[in-house]
Amino acid sequence: MKAVVFHEHGGLEHLRYEEMPDPVPGPDDVLVRVKACALNHLDIWIRQGIPAYKIPLPHISGADVSGIVEALGERVSGIARGQRVFVSPGISCWTCEQCLAGRDNLCPTYGLVGSKIHGGYAELVVVPARNVLSLPDTLTFAEGAAFPLVSVTAVHMLCALADVKPGEDVLIIAAGSGVGCMAIQLAKIIGARVITTVGAAEKIPKAKQLGADEVIHHSQEPVAARVKELTHGRGVDVVIEHVGPAVWDQCIRSLAKAGRLITCGATTGGEVMLNLRHLFSRQLTIRGSYMGTRAELVQAARFVEQGRMRAVIDRVFPLAQARDAQEHLLSRQFFGKIVLQSSNGGS
Ligand SMILES: [Zn+2]
Repeated sequence: MKAVVFHEHGGLEHLRYEEMPDPVPGPDDVLVRVKACALNHLDIWIRQGIPAYKIPLPHISGADVSGIVEALGERVSGIARGQRVFVSPGISCWTCEQCLAGRDNLCPTYGLVGSKIHGGYAELVVVPARNVLSLPDTLTFAEGAAFPLVSVTAVHMLCALADVKPGEDVLIIAAGSGVGCMAIQLAKIIGARVITTVGAAEKIPKAKQLGADEVIHHSQEPVAARVKELTHGRGVDVVIEHVGPAVWDQCIRSLAKAGRLITCGATTGGEVMLNLRHLFSRQLTIRGSYMGTRAELVQAARFVEQGRMRAVIDRVFPLAQARDAQEHLLSRQFFGKIVLQSSNGGS
């Protein structure tokens, strides 16, 4: 098969489109012919090499996959060859206490497709059969690859961790990011008022189209001051952020008393300043989020199937141009998901 592989960690130049042996499914696995694979920042970190993700090389990235079932391991049932599927990115043991309690993203063995195992920057991928879910007929393969990771993240952040209530004010950082697009739509389903941020004027109408009530152009006006204006000095009940140091201070300052800040991603770095006096006197809550549970993915998929949440696709690149696709992700000049499509073709 053709795949985009890196043999050592480093810059974009290490991504190579080349021939790799076809993967063979084990007894509990499924071989999927990849139709589409969405990019995530995880792909960048794994390529660059960070201590949190130790992976054998060479490696194939790609956590968000859709495609067609090509072959089944001997113990797999309930899935048919030729079935249109999408892949749940989270891999866990399904036997430990956390998995049995439905908190599979807290499993000690938890890992992701495209980091724990080879991912979808390829014509074929092998995943555990438990990770394969039926792709709704209404979704294209590109849409099927674009929604899983960001939608499960949004559901976990807004519902499980922030417990957003109807009528609350929610600040969602970076409307144009994959998580931002999903979080805006989900917050509106819940019935919250959504304030979001963008870094370019052309993204404002796109954010409004997704349901944002107020959009702040963060390079033209300070976010926290504008949030205070929009909330009559009170601040927001919830901040959903995945950017880190570049926005942290503004996020904390945007919170109302007893506000909740949910963070993941840290795309601009891992270290921030925190004033503990501000934290305790304003009785703030900060919670870290990582992916979401399988049940939350099923819930997200239902919203997507119903058309209440949609995967926003910025641009589709051929698999062979994965390097250009990652460069586009790093440019921040996008709105929604960036998707790779292999010459397996098809929509
Ligand atoms: Zn487990």
